[in-house]
Amino acid sequence: MDAHDVKAEYWEMIKSQKQTLKEAKKRRGQRPQDRKPREYAYMRFMMSRQPMMRENTEGLIYSSFTAPAYPPCITTVDELKQIKIQDLQLETHHRGVYLLLRCITPPSRMTAIMALVEDKNEDVAMLQIYQQEDEEIRPAAEIANTGTVLLVKEPYYKVMGDGEYGLRVDHLSDVVQLKGNNARIPSEWQSRVIEVGQSVESLKQKGNLAMKEGRFWEAITIYSDALEQAAACEEADVLKRNRSLAFLRTKQFDAALSDTGFPNFDDNSSEKAMYRAGEALYHLRRYDDCCQILEKLCRLFPLNTLAQAASGRAQSRLREQKTGEYNFKLLQAEAKKIRPPHLDHATYIGPLEVKQTASKGRGLFVTKAVKAGDLLLCEKAFAHCYASNKSDGENAGGSNISILINAEADTIVMGTQAELLKTMIQKIYHNPSLAPALTTLYHGDYQGLDTLLVDEMPIVDTFLVERIMSLNSFGCPLSSLNHHKDVGKIRNPPGSAFHSCGTWIQASYINHSCTSNVRRSFIGDMMIVRAICDLEEGTELFFWYHCPEKGNSNDTKNKLKYWGFECECSICSDDKVTPLSTQRQREVLRKSLEKTFRETALGNGKVQKIERLLDELNQTYSQPADKVPRLLVWDMQLLLAHGYASRNKTRQVIVAAGKVLKSLGFIITGVDSSQAPLAITRWGMLVDHLVEIFMLLRDAFVLANNTMNSDRAGDLLPSSLWTYIGTSSGWKLHPDLAVIVWQRMTDPSLDNATLGTPALRAEITGTTEKGWENFFSTIQMSFGSVITRKTTSIVIMEDLRVWKGRASMVVSFLAPTWMLLLDSDYSIKISLNIQNTPAPPPPQLPSAQFYTSFPLLRLPPKIHRHCQPDHAPFRCYN
Ligand SMILES: [Zn+2]
Repeated sequence: MDAHDVKAEYWEMIKSQKQTLKEAKKRRGQRPQDRKPREYAYMRFMMSRQPMMRENTEGLIYSSFTAPAYPPCITTVDELKQIKIQDLQLETHHRGVYLLLRCITPPSRMTAIMALVEDKNEDVAMLQIYQQEDEEIRPAAEIANTGTVLLVKEPYYKVMGDGEYGLRVDHLSDVVQLKGNNARIPSEWQSRVIEVGQSVESLKQKGNLAMKEGRFWEAITIYSDALEQAAACEEADVLKRNRSLAFLRTKQFDAALSDTGFPNFDDNSSEKAMYRAGEALYHLRRYDDCCQILEKLCRLFPLNTLAQAASGRAQSRLREQKTGEYNFKLLQAEAKKIRPPHLDHATYIGPLEVKQTASKGRGLFVTKAVKAGDLLLCEKAFAHCYASNKSDGENAGGSNISILINAEADTIVMGTQAELLKTMIQKIYHNPSLAPALTTLYHGDYQGLDTLLVDEMPIVDTFLVERIMSLNSFGCPLSSLNHHKDVGKIRNPPGSAFHSCGTWIQASYINHSCTSNVRRSFIGDMMIVRAICDLEEGTELFFWYHCPEKGNSNDTKNKLKYWGFECECSICSDDKVTPLSTQRQREVLRKSLEKTFRETALGNGKVQKIERLLDELNQTYSQPADKVPRLLVWDMQLLLAHGYASRNKTRQVIVAAGKVLKSLGFIITGVDSSQAPLAITRWGMLVDHLVEIFMLLRDAFVLANNTMNSDRAGDLLPSSLWTYIGTSSGWKLHPDLAVIVWQRMTDPSLDNATLGTPALRAEITGTTEKGWENFFSTIQMSFGSVITRKTTSIVIMEDLRVWKGRASMVVSFLAPTWMLLLDSDYSIKISLNIQNTPAPPPPQLPSAQFYTSFPLLRLPPKIHRHCQPDHAPFRCYN
């Protein structure tokens, strides 16, 4: 839902498209007298024809225009009357009629499949058929090729981009390919070579050959022809079984399932039929039925290893669906590898229900009380299009990036939306059982149709799906985890960051509120929704359609207009009653704060000025921050906290970081001058910088020698990251290398006499495959306390008394982080081995050498962890 930001320049395209539409409207109802002759049109088409291969489209961005909406034809062909091209009127939908056309050229493919067609009078027109499968999935030549006879229902005749006249078909069911023996085809169009008397057996062989050669669509036609003739029941069963495989290969799972004879299986049922039924059910995500069929299959045919594997896979999905237990680390690894990142996992829907809300249509509610961090939804996308990036290389399965312009709805989106629309239309057209879940989603004021089937063809309203997509799709990163790593680098990621997009049915019911209570994150095409705070039974879930971080409520209001509602959150409500003068005052204070920060380094006078400005800004709010979070305050307050950190003003860092959290609506103790324990009574807004805030707090408490609170702040880190990123593996950030620092490990038994000059060695031990261990001998050691100026480097205030002093020993080493992700939480052990040197032992020691190992931590650790991308050694001060 964050895909609606496009650069202003594209609005120019909307303007010019609107002008084109206006010009076209002027000609509505005209019968053009300047249609081009057949031969001329043929030459022109053949010369400009695009080759059928998918070209290297890198760097090329197509724009496509959504036509003005019109409903699909729901009249049966028998009730329609025939019309001729010469009788067509421009910019008109010809209701109640059909055109019978023959292609006189091979197809050309741009955003639509195009071919030149003629009618019986040899009048020609360009035919554009939209929303057809991609070339790799179904060649255009199978849809419209020289000689193909097509019946176009209720045609729309229009002036085309090049000034010629053509027919535009947007709904899949509005164009029907007629078979050679169809009575409507005039005799002069009948094929010269009529294949007579093909036996069922020869058709079956032909179909099997087509299957072998990967011509699945053709195979379906051939098997269907054979089925029309098949007399014996057994013969028909075999043909259906074969056809069901062709349906599976073309992702028509409803039809595949129906051809297997499901659900009427008994102990005499065909092994193949049951296996294919299992496959169809798996893809339709009916895991319960799928498991039952496959279990039966395994029982009847215990030697079928394929069935056993399929059954195991289906059971894993069923478990995910029922329990919500996922191996998120595996999901992350898969999203990294698989292209497009469409993961084979089930959807888990937690204790949730869709209910009517007072003013926002339907919403999603929790049916029982849940805790902060609880997984509420882990949903596989209904459809997802991936915009590949440079690192993916070729064959990444990426979708084309295009600009989709809807001049009627005044919307313009850049990304994979045009592909997503096609994917969704194709999916429900070929699997009508999946349609209701999608078509019942919010679609604004667009009136959909109730008719599902006409002439035995499913009806899919392209414009309904288009509206649903534009109101319910989400722009998404490949992985929120990696995206999170980038947040620190780029403060304002460019609007083009989320070119990938998808539709998630359940998540679509979650309404917007600036004070959201759940957070969504993505791994590939899976969306993970977790509670940010404890929620009582019956609470409605909210997340951001547009992140209100920047604190401009007018901006939020404008963007939400698109979904047809106003946000009723405390921030927006308060904004409405805030006098204009106060709003202006806020703007002035904010600008002046920004300016002050931009100026030279933080001196004492400057800090005072900032404190004063922040104070004044805070005073413009009449409601407490835990009721109305202060979006204009928190990020400035955070900058100040960083300022204090850079000047080693520990106490002030804690207070300032506490104020950041408070302005975000947190209720928190232990961040004022008292020595109270750090505790969060209520979580506030979960902004991207939350992790940074807790790191800042933790480091400041370390410097203030407040062990209890530094540990507590450290403990809050995983939970803030966890809801943010959506997974819960011990380590949330994994840069390529981690520096592990530990301290506070003075042991009175270790004195100089015992140790000599000790050798130190770090060790990481895991449990995977009977355990593994890695040693790190390049380590740095010092005594003192850690001052962390920035979270990416480590600075130590050194105590030169070393072993004799009372300061902590601080050790660090670089370790590859993948190692830390190998095992589950708590099972990885990091330890420090101290070995005394083989110097002559003091007389009181029994052996010449001793060896001691400190089991330092199990993940998640309570001591310092630092990412140090530049591998710089730590600096010592004394
Ligand atoms: Zn709001």
